[in-house]
Amino acid sequence: MSKNGKRDGSRRAGVSVISLVFALAVLIISAHQAGWFQNWPEAGGASPAFSPSEDQSPLLVYFLDVGQGDSQLIRIPGETGYFNLLLDTGEYKYADGLAQTLRELGVETIDALVCSHPHTDHMGCMARMVQWFEVGSVYMPLLPKEQTPTSSAYEALLDRVEEKNLVITQLYAGAQIAAPGAAQFQVLAPRKDQDWEEVNNYSAVIRLEYGETTFLFTGDAEQDSEEEILEDGYLAEADVLKCGHHGSSSSTSQEFLEAVSPRYAVISCGEGNRYGHPHKETLETLESQRGLTVFRTDQDGTVLFQSDGETLTCETDLPSVPAKES
Ligand SMILES: [Zn+2]
Repeated sequence: MSKNGKRDGSRRAGVSVISLVFALAVLIISAHQAGWFQNWPEAGGASPAFSPSEDQSPLLVYFLDVGQGDSQLIRIPGETGYFNLLLDTGEYKYADGLAQTLRELGVETIDALVCSHPHTDHMGCMARMVQWFEVGSVYMPLLPKEQTPTSSAYEALLDRVEEKNLVITQLYAGAQIAAPGAAQFQVLAPRKDQDWEEVNNYSAVIRLEYGETTFLFTGDAEQDSEEEILEDGYLAEADVLKCGHHGSSSSTSQEFLEAVSPRYAVISCGEGNRYGHPHKETLETLESQRGLTVFRTDQDGTVLFQSDGETLTCETDLPSVPAKES
C-alpha cells in the first residue's frame, strides 16, 4: 500500500515537473520577447538602490549609558520625521532619567519598543516608558512558562501594555521588525520554541541594515546562542557589534566574532560593576587579537553612531542617563 502510494506519488511528481519545465520555457521565451531581461542586474550585482531620507538626516544609533544594563535608541529618518525604536531600558532607577533623555533628544513617540529579554537590567523601567510615551508596537521573545520571570518590573510591563491596548509581538529567529524602508531589521535568535536553561540565551539578537552600514544587537545572548545563529546560516556580519552580556566571557566567542567581523565593538556596562564586566578575556580578544576599537559605556558614557547609509561616524562622552538614588 505504502509502496504503491509512493510510486503513484513519484509518477505524479514526474508529470508535474514536466509541466513546470514546459510552463517555464514558455515564460522564458515570452519574457525574452518582451525584453524583460534587459533590465535584470548581473548575477551578484547591486541590490536594490538604498535611498536615504530626503533631507539627508542620518540614522542615529545611541548606546545609552544606563550603568550596568542595556538601552539602545535607534532613530531612523523618514518622510515624516524620525522612527524611534527603543531597545531595552536599563533598571527601574533610570525611569525618570531615560524619559528625560529621550525627550531631550526629541523623541515624543516610541514607534517600536523592543525588550531583548525580560531581565530587569534590560527592562526594569520599560513599563514606565509604555505609561509615559505614545508607543507603536511592542516586541519581545517568548519564554517557556516556567522560565517567565515573576519580577514586578515584568508584571508591570504586561499590565501597562494591556492598559494601553497594545499587543506584544513575539521575536524569534527569522522574524522581522517593521521599520521605514531604508532600514531593515532581522531577528537572528532565539529559535522559535527553543528551550534554554539560561534565560540570557532567549535574548533577541537583531541585525540592522541601513544602506551599506550594519549593526548587530545581541542583548545578553551567550555563546550557545551565537553558535546556533551560525549553525542556522544567518548573515551576522556587522560594522558595529554590541557585545553580548555586557562583555562577559560567556559571550562573544572567537567563531562568532569571526563571522560578524565588526569594525567597532560596544560594551554596555556599569563602572565598577560586581560582575567584573567586561571580562578581560573578552577585551583581550577584541582589542589585542582583532585590533578593534572598543567603546564602553562605563568609560565613554553614551556612545552615538551616525550613518548616511555609507559612512559611519562615532561620538562618545555624551551625557549618561541620570539614575535616581535609591
Ligand atoms: Zn544584562
